[in-house]
Amino acid sequence: MFEQENVFNQELKLDLPNQISIHVKREDLLHPEVSGNKFRKLKYNIAKAKALGYTRVLTFGGAYSNHIAATAAVGRILGIPTIGVIRGEELVHVYKQNPTLAKAEEDGMRFKFVTRTAYREKSNAEFLADLQQEFDGTYIVPEGGTNDEAILGTMEILKEDDKSFTHICVAVGTGGTIAGIINSSTVDQTILGFPALKGSFLSDDINKFVTKSNWKLIHDYHFGGYAKYNAELISFIQKIEEKTDVLFDPIYTGKMMYGVLDLISKGHFPAGSKILVIHTGGLQGWNDVIRKK
Ligand SMILES: *Cc1c(COP(=O)(O)O)cnc(C)c1O
Repeated sequence: MFEQENVFNQELKLDLPNQISIHVKREDLLHPEVSGNKFRKLKYNIAKAKALGYTRVLTFGGAYSNHIAATAAVGRILGIPTIGVIRGEELVHVYKQNPTLAKAEEDGMRFKFVTRTAYREKSNAEFLADLQQEFDGTYIVPEGGTNDEAILGTMEILKEDDKSFTHICVAVGTGGTIAGIINSSTVDQTILGFPALKGSFLSDDINKFVTKSNWKLIHDYHFGGYAKYNAELISFIQKIEEKTDVLFDPIYTGKMMYGVLDLISKGHFPAGSKILVIHTGGLQGWNDVIRKK
C-alpha cells in the first residue's frame, strides 16, 4: 500500500495580486482511505515494526484523531493488529456514536480508554513499559505519529520539481510534517507553518528534528484552538471549493489556506512569490459539514 503515489501539484486560479501564484500539492489523494501526512508518517514506522518482528502496533489519540483512523486502516489493509489508547475514559460507553472510533473498530482496532490524567503520561517511560507488558509484542507509535521514522516519511513529500517554489505552507499539529518538509527543502525556500492549536511549545518540538532555520510558525489562524472553527471559516472553505474544486478541512488545511490568503492580502509575500501549499488530507467525516445540501 505504500508503493503508489497519486499526488500532483494543482494551480489554484484565485486572481491573486502581484504575480503571486499558489499551487496545492494534493497529498489528500495519496490513498483512498489513509490520506496525506498520516500515511507518510506511518510508512517507515510500519516497516520498522515488521523488520524488528513486532506483531502489533499501538498508538494514542483523541476521539477525532486522523492518526487513530489512519493507523486502524493501515492495520486492516496490511493485516497487522492495532491498539488505540484513547483519551477520555467516559467514551467507553459511547464511542460507537463517534464516526472516527466506530470506523477504527470496524478496521479491527482494539481500544484502551484512559482518563485525561493518565493520557498526559503518554510519553512517560513507565507508562509505556506498562503498556508493553499489557500488550506484548507491541510496537508503540507516539501521539500524532511523530518520531524519527515519521520524519523519514514526511521528507518524501517534496520532490525535485518543487525546488522552484519560493514558499511552502503547511498546517501544523505535532510538527512532524513540517519537520520533514524543512529537512527536504532548499535553504532559499521559506517554510511557513500554520498551527491548528493555540499556544504550545511547538517550535522546540520541531527543532528536535531539523537543523535549518528557513522556517517560521504563524500563530494567528488557529480559530480558537484545536478542532475549533466558525461559520466564517466554513464559508471560506465553501468559496474556495466553488472557485477551485479543491476541498479543504476545517481543522488543519482550511485554517492554513485562510491564513495564506489573508497574508497575501496584507502584502506579506513579495511580488512574484511562487507558493506551494500542502493539502495534508484529513477530509474524512467533513463532507456533511462543509458541503451545502
Ligand atoms: C495530523 C494532521 C496535520 C498535522 O500534522 P503534524 O505532523 O502533526 O504537524 C495536518 N493536516 C492534517 C489533515 C492532519 O490530519
